[in-house]
Amino acid sequence: MCRTCGCSDQNHTHDHEHGADHPHDHTLAPGRRTVPLEQRVLERNDRLAADTRHRLRARGVVAVNLMSAPGAGKTSLLERTIRDIGDEVAIAVIEGDQATENDAERIRAAGARAVQINTGAGCHLDAAMVTRALAELDPDAGSIVIIENVGNLVCPALFDLGECARVVVAAVTDGDDKPEKYPHMFRAADVLLVNKIDLLPYVRFDVDRCISRARELNPRLRPIAVSATGGLGLATWYGWLRERVAEAHEVVATTP
Ligand code: MG
Repeated sequence: MCRTCGCSDQNHTHDHEHGADHPHDHTLAPGRRTVPLEQRVLERNDRLAADTRHRLRARGVVAVNLMSAPGAGKTSLLERTIRDIGDEVAIAVIEGDQATENDAERIRAAGARAVQINTGAGCHLDAAMVTRALAELDPDAGSIVIIENVGNLVCPALFDLGECARVVVAAVTDGDDKPEKYPHMFRAADVLLVNKIDLLPYVRFDVDRCISRARELNPRLRPIAVSATGGLGLATWYGWLRERVAEAHEVVATTP
């Protein structure tokens, strides 16, 4: 968890507002207090996420946690996905950004319902934020909810949101060594979308190298090369989403 960016300080800030004396003293004595605090925060998060996952499964809702560095094309991918298969399966979106409603407005313009979460100083979504957003979104049974996390390859890897799958997007306009630099994210993911492959003639990015390094970290990772704006590879991405929907419906059908 991030000790320096302050994103895990929300509870302390909250305590401070209610009169606690030293809201940030865990940052002053990291050896004594930081680790237990982080463990408690993550344990509480994981309990809530497990409860959310259970409730979504019971209704056949496929929740996908979509993560990447800023600018890798998450929102463009969602706009295209909604336009291409939104008539076939209901898709709703939870948007996470530090500020603005911009991405939620783009999703609504593409034809799907969206709830925007603004994290302020926070650099990731957590299970409490997503649980509140789900209550507002009230997704249809059997639908897809895509949670677009805050653009960041570090902290989002640590926070279970109650999703059924995690997708990381790496754009060819970034370095192909992202898996080595941010191994926790690539270990946590189920799918690696290598995006913007229509730009490969203009950039130095070795797709095979990126994928092989990611799969060294995580052999079960499913790589899919796409261009969210040009359309290349998207049929494979839609096929993966359809498989998740079929699985979710199967769970509902076979659960007493
Ligand atoms: Mg976005």
